[in-house]
Amino acid sequence: MTRKIDRRAEDEQDEGGRFSRRGLLVGGSAAAAAAILSASSTPAAAQPTAGPPAAATERRWHPDDDDILLVNGRIHTMDDHDTVVSAVRLSGGRIAAVGREAQTSGSSKNRIDLRGRTVVPGLIESHTHFVSLANRPGYHVAEWELAKDVAGVLAALAARRPEVPDGQFITAMGAGTPRMFAEQRLPTRAEIDSAVSDRPVFLYQNFNGPARVNTLGKQFFESVSNPAVAVADDGSIVGDAANYALYHLRIRQTFEDQRRSALDAMAYSAKLGITLNYDQVLFATPNGTLDPSAYETQPGDGLRKLNHYRMYDPYLSLNREGSAYVRLWINFLHQQGFIPALGGLDKQLPELKERLRNAMPGHGDEFVRIRGIGEWAAPFATPSNANGYAVWREAQRLVAQAGWHNENAIPGTPTDQSQIEQVVSTWEALDAEFGIRHLRWGLQHADHATPNQLARLKAIGAGVSLSGFRWLSGTPRADGLPFGPMFRQIHDSGIPYGLHEDGVHIAPHNPWFAMHYATTGLNVLGQQINPGQQISRTDALRAYTRGAAWFVGVDDRLGSIEKGKHADLVVLDKDYFSVSDAEMRDIRPVLSFVDGGIVHDTGVVRGRRDWAHDSDHPYDESWWRVQA
Ligand SMILES: [Zn+2]
Repeated sequence: MTRKIDRRAEDEQDEGGRFSRRGLLVGGSAAAAAAILSASSTPAAAQPTAGPPAAATERRWHPDDDDILLVNGRIHTMDDHDTVVSAVRLSGGRIAAVGREAQTSGSSKNRIDLRGRTVVPGLIESHTHFVSLANRPGYHVAEWELAKDVAGVLAALAARRPEVPDGQFITAMGAGTPRMFAEQRLPTRAEIDSAVSDRPVFLYQNFNGPARVNTLGKQFFESVSNPAVAVADDGSIVGDAANYALYHLRIRQTFEDQRRSALDAMAYSAKLGITLNYDQVLFATPNGTLDPSAYETQPGDGLRKLNHYRMYDPYLSLNREGSAYVRLWINFLHQQGFIPALGGLDKQLPELKERLRNAMPGHGDEFVRIRGIGEWAAPFATPSNANGYAVWREAQRLVAQAGWHNENAIPGTPTDQSQIEQVVSTWEALDAEFGIRHLRWGLQHADHATPNQLARLKAIGAGVSLSGFRWLSGTPRADGLPFGPMFRQIHDSGIPYGLHEDGVHIAPHNPWFAMHYATTGLNVLGQQINPGQQISRTDALRAYTRGAAWFVGVDDRLGSIEKGKHADLVVLDKDYFSVSDAEMRDIRPVLSFVDGGIVHDTGVVRGRRDWAHDSDHPYDESWWRVQA
């Protein structure tokens, strides 16, 4: 038996003072997919009004009127006392009761025996470029970033194959880099053929490639023009051609393809335990024009560039129909530095000024919400670049004057914290002029902020978000100094801090990599690169839950498992607090809840199979009747 949630009925419930719920709809729309090899090259923006998926299959929902009681767990609430309880009750999308009260109040009809498993609050990724993942062309395989070797990449590609219609691409882009794989290289054309021979496959690394294809992929790219794409015999596509290849896939994406990609990105987040993504946009093209077509994908654009006005549309469309099930908080990045053609300082920063005039910070709902400006208001420039510096400083001032939340991403180095000093002293001056303490401004990365700088940031109400991704790019320094971030020093300063991966181009989305790095200092090759700067597992987890919630400004309703908060929580396959360091990287949720709804379920806890790609097994109400 399947069940459809009626959003109109939900709205009526909302008016009656009840919490909103949503039927969680995951598009498995084979019918919506057009054959890419023969598709026209109509840009996606020309088709913004596509309807709902033709054959979407509903798989996940809330029981409408019943509580869900989780018992026999090790539930780390991350409250003020780091209380651990064995039971929690979810009702109406919220945490209804914790501990003994959970057992003694409400219904026991929907009871899930956790059998001793560890439960943590839903993870909050406090710096990501998630909307890029939500727009990937093809049937994207985000899981390739979890592979440890070439065989693992091939297995992830092959696992995707059964869902992919004839003629459609299987793609894997962004964070998968050779450094992550034992062989330190991508699979070859022949190897990819051995895993997937009857669908074209396209792999693409980082911001700008290089790329690698299988034989069908090679045939496709050798058939396109404007621009042509050169493919080497081993399937390599290098230099500008990698971005040309990306362009040819992007211009063939329909709006429905983008919606499917957004749903895939949500599913991957839920699978990793991330229940809120704090997006920091992509590198926009600051050309000043109001012509939307000028922002459409161009042949030279890398993966990090999208139409920064329209790239939210698929996610917004899904949210309008109640199908978005991972929270998306949005900052707006502004990439306009000094543009001589515009004239004096009062004529600079046109896009930022329009944003501050015409957008509304805090606008949105519990699934998509605008926060403020980040990861920067203008490109950073020091006083040695007089015009660039004036524009950067004016951007900070405009955001303060408008009373918006603001962030700036500056890591510093072990031997030079002058750029961080520029941010701190500028923000102190703006606090004196406008008062920004209530706005929780944020220094992103902050790797090498000094104790003095951290104390001053704290004094003006600012927080920091620290980069776990250094584990991927970091190497031991010849001078023996920590590569950063200075987790221990920052923790000891008492400033509020979140933790992040800064995916999904240069870094993976997987937050367990970041927690492993923060607690061990080991890079991907197992080298100690951050000596003396580790924090405890509890503190790393707090940074991904309560700390991140503070940083994102949602600590009043998310970040801990406490009565009245939204029911975002994650049941883990291993005990984060006692597994070996090596095993920590491989932690995966077996059950994830957002707003009290199950958004990821491997079937381990409830003794049922994974619904994620299981449209042959629609929801069966009896599945809730699982008893110990
Ligand atoms: Zn970033």
